[in-house]
Amino acid sequence: MNITNSCSSYRYTPQQIEEFFASDNGQMKEHFLEESICRPLIGKQIHKPYFHYCKICPKVENLHLESIEHHIKFKDPKRHKAKLLEMMQEEVHMDKDESKNGQDFTIRT
Ligand SMILES: [Zn+2]
Repeated sequence: MNITNSCSSYRYTPQQIEEFFASDNGQMKEHFLEESICRPLIGKQIHKPYFHYCKICPKVENLHLESIEHHIKFKDPKRHKAKLLEMMQEEVHMDKDESKNGQDFTIRT
């Protein structure tokens, strides 16, 4: 199973993830996959355009991003949260190398 993620713009903290799972509401109403707090767990179907799926439960797929997030939040949330935190940490490591370059880029006037 390949669960690597090419995007590295994930910027939620473990605390935000905790809050997401603890709250009754999901994220803000309209958002893209890239902005989803569950993004590391959500994949896009290749053979079905616009379909999303849960990377832990590949059988769970839906046209609507919210439905996958709902699944992640309410169906076995402990398992999904643990995996999300795990994957998030991998992404943070990748981000570190990128931000190092960014900090050197300062403009002096
Ligand atoms: Zn799942």
